Amino acid sequence: MARLRKEVSHRWERRMLLRAWRQGEVDRDSICDADFLLVEASKYHGYPAERACPVCEGDTLREVNWIYGDRLGKRSNTARREEEIVRIVEEVGPVTVHLVEVCTRCRWNHLLETGTVEPGG
Ligand SMILES: [Zn+2]
Repeated sequence: MARLRKEVSHRWERRMLLRAWRQGEVDRDSICDADFLLVEASKYHGYPAERACPVCEGDTLREVNWIYGDRLGKRSNTARREEEIVRIVEEVGPVTVHLVEVCTRCRWNHLLETGTVEPGG
């Protein structure tokens, strides 16, 4: 099994941004700006977040993992399912993972956590 290490939460920044939006300090267009690729990737490689979208309150919120790493080649900066990440890490070593939440309805998106997945054992 692979394990996540050096995890950094970005949930505080998320909360602050949502608060600014609710107070009218930032407009919805500027926080609901997921591009086509991110929305599609969240549908095919992501998972239901099982909580309501904080902006449109739809049940359309998903979480998706993006991987980065020098040894990944073309696979760097792509969305991957967890079981794929485990396989890739066993092959190339530690991989940086960004967990992002994306709403497929209103296109809200935010980074939740960053971390490194390392080979287990
Ligand atoms: Zn939404």
